[in-house]
Amino acid sequence: MAGAAGSFDSQFTEHAYLELVQLAKAHYAFVSFADYETARAGSVLWRHDLDFSVHRAVALARIEAEEGARATYFVQLHSPFYNALEAEIAAGVREILGLGHELALHFDPRFYDHRVGTQELARERALLEDLFQAPVLAFSAHNPTLNGWRNDRDVVAGMVNAYGPFLSTNYGYASDSNGYWRDAPLAEILVRREHERLQVLTHPEWWVPEPLSPRERVSRAIDGRAARQHTRYEEIMARLQQPESLS
Ligand SMILES: [Zn+2]
Repeated sequence: MAGAAGSFDSQFTEHAYLELVQLAKAHYAFVSFADYETARAGSVLWRHDLDFSVHRAVALARIEAEEGARATYFVQLHSPFYNALEAEIAAGVREILGLGHELALHFDPRFYDHRVGTQELARERALLEDLFQAPVLAFSAHNPTLNGWRNDRDVVAGMVNAYGPFLSTNYGYASDSNGYWRDAPLAEILVRREHERLQVLTHPEWWVPEPLSPRERVSRAIDGRAARQHTRYEEIMARLQQPESLS
């Protein structure tokens, strides 16, 4: 249903994404959350919160790697849209890390009915680090506005808080939340370079091969996963019909 997409939606294709990464590279240096305090003027923290799709994240990670850009991928453990412990999804995260990108935690306080202490964050960090054998450098809260949960410390359980006071105060911020740019389009922000240090948040599911409306982009992720589940079931049935293969 690409016909339902408007011209605005053509800002959220893989091609448009490549152009943004190239633009960012021309104006900023991509830095690690490990260096958030000491990063020089002209640094960008390029962050992805993975809400709907690790497959889309892999697509963006490849584009970034080809451009020599380093990003940080914030992975959820309680997403209803993907399971980071599932073999195919974990393989996707491993590919992202293998491309030179960094790992972080996208934390959903709602899983704990908002009764969250350092211990809950530390436990999720340990699980992710064990699963992917990589350091988890930072965390971001999932739907902070909707959930009304915040943590006012810069570092919690050894992870940099993406919404902590230091980053909020010392870094400009641009986000594609809900499938559009909340303030100015990112391209404008990058070219104007009005922020010496910048944190950019993108959600990989908003970036697709062809223009789609925001709702279609989410449906694409949901339908892709559903189709994969059907294939899995059919593969099992096919194997069951070949008894010799079960021995
Ligand atoms: Zn989120």
